[in-house]
Amino acid sequence: MSDQTVIENIGPENILELIEELANGITDPKCYRCGFCCQSSACSYGQWDPQRQACKSLKSVPGTLRFTCEKYERIVELEKGEKYPMMGGGCVSTLFNDLRDEARTESLNG
Ligand code: SF4
Ligand code: SF4
Repeated sequence: MSDQTVIENIGPENILELIEELANGITDPKCYRCGFCCQSSACSYGQWDPQRQACKSLKSVPGTLRFTCEKYERIVELEKGEKYPMMGGGCVSTLFNDLRDEARTESLNG
């Protein structure tokens, strides 16, 4: 759901849900490896796969809603010493992100 759609659908019946979403996004900025960002575009280390609509290095973790990056160790090594390394920096899309919400719930319950 886009931010615009969420805003258009705000009403008394879902205001608590909205507040919870905002609170979770602000207080829990951790990456839950939902794959959303790598299904939106490839980072500078990746390569976009138009057929999959995802980065070629993005692999799902079987039996879970989570994903892993095949280049994780390589990227960590390349960015060693960087002030703001990409891996471990937290989530880039915490709000109104259904994939992250589902992966977060799975992670917190598992
Ligand atoms: S290289 Fe890894 S972190 Fe970068 S877009 Fe691809 S899967 Fe994501
Ligand atoms: S959208 Fe956020 S939680 Fe999901 S993989 Fe990207 S950084 Fe991690």
